[in-house]
Amino acid sequence: MRVKRRAISEACGALFNTSARTRKSPLSMEILIGNNMVTYDTFTGADQKVRTIADIRKDFPILSRQVHGKPLVYLDSAASSQKPQAVLDTMSTYYQTYHANVHRGVYALSEEATAAMEKARIKVARFINAHKGKQIIFTRNTTESINLVAYSWGGANIHAGDLIVLTIMEHHSNLIPWQLLAQRTGARLEFIPITEDGFLRLDAYEQLLQQQPKLVAFTHMSNVLGTINPAKQMIAQAHAAGATVLVDGAQSVPHLPIDVQELDVDFLCFSGHKMLGPTGIGVLYGKRELLEAMPPFLGGSIMIRKVGLRESTWNDLPEKFEPGTASIAESIGLGAAVDYLSALGMENVLRHEQAITDYALQQLQSVPELTIYGPRSADKRGGVISFTLGDIHPHDLASILDQELGVAIRAGHHCAQPLMEHFDLAATARASFYVYTLPEEIDVLVQGLHKALEIFSL
Ligand code: PMP
Repeated sequence: MRVKRRAISEACGALFNTSARTRKSPLSMEILIGNNMVTYDTFTGADQKVRTIADIRKDFPILSRQVHGKPLVYLDSAASSQKPQAVLDTMSTYYQTYHANVHRGVYALSEEATAAMEKARIKVARFINAHKGKQIIFTRNTTESINLVAYSWGGANIHAGDLIVLTIMEHHSNLIPWQLLAQRTGARLEFIPITEDGFLRLDAYEQLLQQQPKLVAFTHMSNVLGTINPAKQMIAQAHAAGATVLVDGAQSVPHLPIDVQELDVDFLCFSGHKMLGPTGIGVLYGKRELLEAMPPFLGGSIMIRKVGLRESTWNDLPEKFEPGTASIAESIGLGAAVDYLSALGMENVLRHEQAITDYALQQLQSVPELTIYGPRSADKRGGVISFTLGDIHPHDLASILDQELGVAIRAGHHCAQPLMEHFDLAATARASFYVYTLPEEIDVLVQGLHKALEIFSL
């Protein structure tokens, strides 16, 4: 297939409108991919600025550094994204000018810090269209959010013999908490299988639903295959069968527009560090009636209403689930990350990633002996591509790319060992993309893969 890279570069570059100019109406750009004319629309960013990827990259100081004497090509955003200056500045301003503990002091600094953290909570709520800020529980990360639900909701609602439906493409973080719960309670676990090209077998899902599971928990987007699962449909089906649904949004919330009310999801879990925010802050969104009925997960500090020596009562949401000193700087930093993404517009983020993924899928076809796992088409997947190259170990591949060309990719089982087993693999290499990824960086990746083949054929 013939791909006009320059055209794609321009299209990707113009997906976010920045620069001083503003545009009233969207532009269209036609790109030749193989024999097909593909139209990529370009948009004014949600903040009404015309933006190019080159501009966006200037907001990320780390992207201008060199690695082994080469410009950094960062293709590991699915593991953790880089951070824009706005996030770094917001956190630094907090520490430099109004750091104090929150929800405790009645003096100016503490009140300012509390107000900033609560404002961040509201921003996160709006970002996913939650009804109320109190439905946003700040945790450390997706893993902690899922564990919170498994211990608290699971402990109260799951009993011996109850069925929990998961999928075989889950990250360990959406598997182990349910295994532990099943071991504690005697519940059963069943798994939705996948097709050859990495889609969930929805026919098998329907059959599992006939067994009336208590809980269905699945990833919205696979961190290995990139598959975007049909969450809305799956949630509606689960509800019709009487099940509660938890969605692992670690890979979807950073990359797709998410509306929890439209999805009608019961619990949604995600991490700040994968969506331009800092590490150490994650989110559990839950339906209010569910969160209110749930017992605390961790005890101590401000999660109480009244404490006696032998028993206590609990605070309202969200404090009931936020014991101990909060990740204050991190929550405020996450608020800044949400501002940044909202200004770009999540529709634009998705479009850019689909364009870049499309381009990568095309370009990778030039590499002999390359096997790509997951859906073949960019419109059915997110910006994550897992692959193996001949019999080169993915760790060797990642080292060569790093040493020779400054390319950072992930290699390993991606915390999805059952999925690896399904494909009879110990590991894959994985390249993943975000708002700052350029087509030129895909070219460097492809060049690196050719180089690795050369080195291993010597
Ligand atoms: N679920 C998925 C799908 C993920 O990709 C990840 C991170 N790789 C997690 C859960 C866990 O996220 P965290 O490490 O931030 O808790």
